[in-house]
Amino acid sequence: MVLGIDIGGTNTEFAVVDSTKGILHTEKIKTKGHDSFLNYIENLTDVVKLLSSNYSISSIGIGAPNFDSYSNTFSPVNFPWSDVAPFNLAKHLEHEVCIPTSVVNDANAVALAENRYGIGRSVNSFVIITIGTGLGAGIVINNKLFDGSYGYAGEFGHTKVENIDRTCNCGGVGCLETVVSANGIKRTYAKKMNLSSPEVSPVVRTIFEEARKGDKICTETLEYTFQVLGKKLSDLIHVLTPEAIIFCGNISKSLDIYMPLVKKECERNLLNNMRGKTKYMISELLDRQMNLLGPASLAFNKKLDFA
Ligand SMILES: [Zn+2]
Repeated sequence: MVLGIDIGGTNTEFAVVDSTKGILHTEKIKTKGHDSFLNYIENLTDVVKLLSSNYSISSIGIGAPNFDSYSNTFSPVNFPWSDVAPFNLAKHLEHEVCIPTSVVNDANAVALAENRYGIGRSVNSFVIITIGTGLGAGIVINNKLFDGSYGYAGEFGHTKVENIDRTCNCGGVGCLETVVSANGIKRTYAKKMNLSSPEVSPVVRTIFEEARKGDKICTETLEYTFQVLGKKLSDLIHVLTPEAIIFCGNISKSLDIYMPLVKKECERNLLNNMRGKTKYMISELLDRQMNLLGPASLAFNKKLDFA
């Protein structure tokens, strides 16, 4: 069995996963509940030591924010500690518990989960688009994660949309996630309603509900959002020609009625000989499962490499 670890902003979760029985045991520590980065790493190491003494763990997989595969370090820049510095967690844990360990960017971990446990079982090459607070993508080619030469491939959310002058969290202007994300939807709604700020827009769930009841502005907001997404997906397909585009994340759960629109807009922008060849699907894995099954999949893959 393997140990999957998900380093999130609020919690760090641990799952002991068996290749046939699935998740056997989980643990959780509060990520931000530590005085310093060093203190956090010590606590995380203690949990790993405890779990590896109770279970026969053959490898460890970790989903971490800002993981740079070139230097093998992660750097939780959004965390509230003054001693944060790029840290080689795999090397540290291998030294402490003598178990092969690998790390992947948390955004790419979902692609690994889908490949091993979800729709990825029926397709060999796909792009998974996570739509939530922001917009991320993970790329699997021939059943292998493609994360580029330093681990950051798949930053689809920061590709640019024409005629959009919205500033993104990344500092850029006109990024796709300023339109297609929970925040982006609120920004579009606020603009249509002449609101003072997107902060006063209703929550996205309400916008979906009102659109379903026939509200004009909510419907227009969502139609615009998913037209933009469809058009940008055609760029992805032109470059990668995946068998499937899979959607996951909070917003994808409400995407079903807009899927024909996404598909139509995407296909319309494709070259003739590429039309009708891509499957558009919504992930059936739960977000919570994804967070832990992704790193666990990484650990299973690592085990295969060592076998
Ligand atoms: Zn951006």
